[in-house]
Amino acid sequence: MQKPIYSITPFTLLDYPDHTACILWFAGCNMRCLYCYNPEIVLGKGTLTIEDTLQFLASRKHLLNGVVFSGGECTLHSGFPEMVRAAKEMGFLVKIDTNGSRPNVLEALIHQGYVDYVALDFKALAKSYAGITRSHLHADFEKSLHLLQESRINFEVRTTWHRDLISTTELHEMVSYLSAHAYHGTYYVQHYVNHVTTLSPLPFSVPITDSSLFSTAQIEVVFRRS
Ligand code: SF4
Repeated sequence: MQKPIYSITPFTLLDYPDHTACILWFAGCNMRCLYCYNPEIVLGKGTLTIEDTLQFLASRKHLLNGVVFSGGECTLHSGFPEMVRAAKEMGFLVKIDTNGSRPNVLEALIHQGYVDYVALDFKALAKSYAGITRSHLHADFEKSLHLLQESRINFEVRTTWHRDLISTTELHEMVSYLSAHAYHGTYYVQHYVNHVTTLSPLPFSVPITDSSLFSTAQIEVVFRRS
C-alpha cells in the first residue's frame, strides 16, 4: 500500500493565515533546491497511508479549521486530489503549499472548489531557476502563477532568499517580473535560515534589513523568517 505522507504536524497556528490547522508533509519532490530545509522529507520515504491520514483528519473534525498540504511537493502524488477532496468534505479549509510545478493538478482542484488558499514558491527568474532548484520547471511555475491570478483563490507568492543565490539586483528583477505578470499585493521573502541542515551546504547569508527598498506601488515586499 502506498505511503505518501512522511509525517503530520497535528497543530499549528503559524502555517494557515488566521486559522488553526494541521500540516500533512508529503514525501518526495521534483526539485532539489540548494537551501531546502527538509532533506529528510524530500529524499525520504512516506510512513503513513492515505487511510491513516484520513483517519487522523476525521479525528480532528470540528477541532481544527484547516489542513495544510505541504512537503516535499504534495501535488506529485496520485492520491493527493482524493485527499484534498476528502478534507474538504470533512469541512476543513484547504491550503496547498506548492512549488507550482503541477499547474494541471492545481487547476482541476481549484475548478472543483476544493482549494481555499495557496502558497506558491517563486524560486527564481528563469535564468537562475535550474541553478537554484536543479530542475527545469520555471514555465510550469509561471502557468501556476497565471492560473492563480485568474482564479478567485486567496494566494501568496513567496521566495526563499540567500545572498549567494539571488543578488539584491535580481530580487528587484523578481519584483519587476511579478509586476509585469500583473501581480498585486504582498510578496513574501523568507530569509534563508543559517545553521540548519539543508540539501546543499551553503555559507552564512547576511539578511537584508530594509524590505521597503524592494516594495513598489503595486507590490509590498515583506521579509519574514520561514
Ligand atoms: S524547498 Fe525545493 S526541494 Fe525543498 S521541498 Fe520545496 S521545492 Fe522541494
